[in-house]
Amino acid sequence: MSLPKFTYLAPDSLEEACQLLANHQGTIKIKAGGTDLMVRLAQHALKPAYLMALGKIPGLAEVSYTPTAGLKLGAMALLAEVVNNPAIQEHYPMLARAANATATVQIRNMGTVMGNVCNASPSADNIPSLMVHGASIKTISANGEREIPLSEFFLGPGRTALESGEIATAILVPPLPASSGVSYQKISRRSKVDIAAVNVAAMLQLDADGTCQQARICLGAVGPTPLQATKTAAFLQGKALHSETIEEAGELAAGEASPISDVRASKEYRKLMVAVLTKRALSEACHLATGTKS
Ligand SMILES: Cc1cc2nc3c(=O)[nH]c(=O)nc-3n(C[C@H](O)[C@H](O)[C@H](O)COP(=O)(O)OP(=O)(O)OC[C@H]3O[C@@H](n4cnc5c(N)ncnc54)[C@H](O)[C@@H]3O)c2cc1C
Repeated sequence: MSLPKFTYLAPDSLEEACQLLANHQGTIKIKAGGTDLMVRLAQHALKPAYLMALGKIPGLAEVSYTPTAGLKLGAMALLAEVVNNPAIQEHYPMLARAANATATVQIRNMGTVMGNVCNASPSADNIPSLMVHGASIKTISANGEREIPLSEFFLGPGRTALESGEIATAILVPPLPASSGVSYQKISRRSKVDIAAVNVAAMLQLDADGTCQQARICLGAVGPTPLQATKTAAFLQGKALHSETIEEAGELAAGEASPISDVRASKEYRKLMVAVLTKRALSEACHLATGTKS
């Protein structure tokens, strides 16, 4: 593997990292686990003069959960940590499922959820569930901190709302409301260790009588960014979640997708699979919401 020449930087603090980004704007790339980045360097698709690794900065790998604030997932938290963290398994099982569906055990032991998000692939495994959980991205730069809702984070394939001097420091995931459930569904060409041909996450919050109070649906790999199926979510609001409603919602979601044909699947197949996976996701989310204590 021949890599382009670059200077390797390993700051000890966020302040130093922000200064380095400000000093080398346009010529520096941030490295988390490097599982995406090193491949792109090896392909000479990127030729940064500087590579800045975040691994020495204290605190970035931390994962914390409280019932009131929810989950804070540090930028260097590994995919494997998200799979195995007991609080995530208990309170955000679909984040653990999505992390576990990402790549291989080797990649999950090196790669981060934040890297998966910042890589901004439309088919990324971890984005749809984070999106329906209403997550946001905390950032820092020489100009200070800000929080970007994930729903505003993706601008196109590989493009995010991060500015050139900004580091994403944490993913913030609010607590789920009572009587709600989330599901993550994925289909790929091979059943395991493959990028999604289509992926779907759904969140449902139900009233005591089972009527849908709130719905969020996110479709992956069927548009230039992960897509929020807002019309389908609006259709579900106020309706009882019986099988006909779920069936109709699946068809509506397929209508909201705008897939292309590529090596993984044809656009026709992708549309069909959006309907199937949306129905599966809504059924599971409904089942989990019904089982949730209010
Ligand atoms: C063999 C293989 C299989 C894969 N399979 C899958 C799969 O099934 N599903 C899937 O979704 N992905 C898959 N991937 C993609 C990849 O492994 C994941 O996206 C991984 O989560 C990336 O994390 P990382 O920490 O290695 O990111 P890096 O490679 O370090 O970074 C990725 C991008 O994010 C930026 N970045 C990282 N952290 C920050 C930060 N804190 N602030 C600002 N920018 C940042 C980097 O500059 C870079 O542009 C696969 C990759 C490989 C090589």
